[in-house]
Amino acid sequence: MLGRRSLSAAKGCSSAVLNLLLPPRCLACGSKTGRTGALCPVCWSDMPFLENPVCARYGTPLPHDMGEGGLSARAIMDPPVFDSARSAARYDGPARQMVLALKFARHRDLSEPMGTWMARAGREFLSAESLIVPVPLHRWRLWQRRFNQAADLAASVARTAGCGYDPMLLARTRRTRQQVGLDAASRQKNVRGAFDIRAGREAEVFGRPVVLVDDVMTTGSTVSACARVLRKAGASRVDVLTFALAVPEES
Ligand SMILES: [Zn+2]
Repeated sequence: MLGRRSLSAAKGCSSAVLNLLLPPRCLACGSKTGRTGALCPVCWSDMPFLENPVCARYGTPLPHDMGEGGLSARAIMDPPVFDSARSAARYDGPARQMVLALKFARHRDLSEPMGTWMARAGREFLSAESLIVPVPLHRWRLWQRRFNQAADLAASVARTAGCGYDPMLLARTRRTRQQVGLDAASRQKNVRGAFDIRAGREAEVFGRPVVLVDDVMTTGSTVSACARVLRKAGASRVDVLTFALAVPEES
């Protein structure tokens, strides 16, 4: 039997051999790095992490610190259906590269570090009672893509924060056009009534804080359509957590 020391030596040796065969690559740009599961120094310094001050409701950057609970003009004029939204990074540079690599190049291992950063961004509302729910894909799109990137991120957030996770709670009941290229009003119309809670699962939501997870938030129309359904089913609060935020022009 191998002793602990020789076992860890064997492990170290095998990872060294693995690194020689498959050198670790940067999570965003794919260049060779010294460590598995990390960003290269250039991508790390370019990573557009969203830091405070942000709007307490929409999570969008504020031009200056307005103290706790500071709101953007949009949050005052047009309060969201959800309680609050937070994102780990702006949808730009290495953050955008990671979103596209997860979704289209099926680098599903990326959901692990992305989910860890998301859990940090959502620390104000994540708790042991939270139920983490991904924005669902329509079954045809799920069939085409073979996985739901939002579900991978949601699972990773739930693991990191120690919350409940239910990828099957919400269903997309009709096919919708891709939101890319649509203006805010068309986006809203496109997803209105497109989501529902699966039959018999309403009790799971009643009185519970729910955290909706998606990869990118743009105008928030998709998560708003989901939040409406969750509120109707009696969720005690609905917060939104996305990896990236496509920051609107006006902010
Ligand atoms: Zn890089």
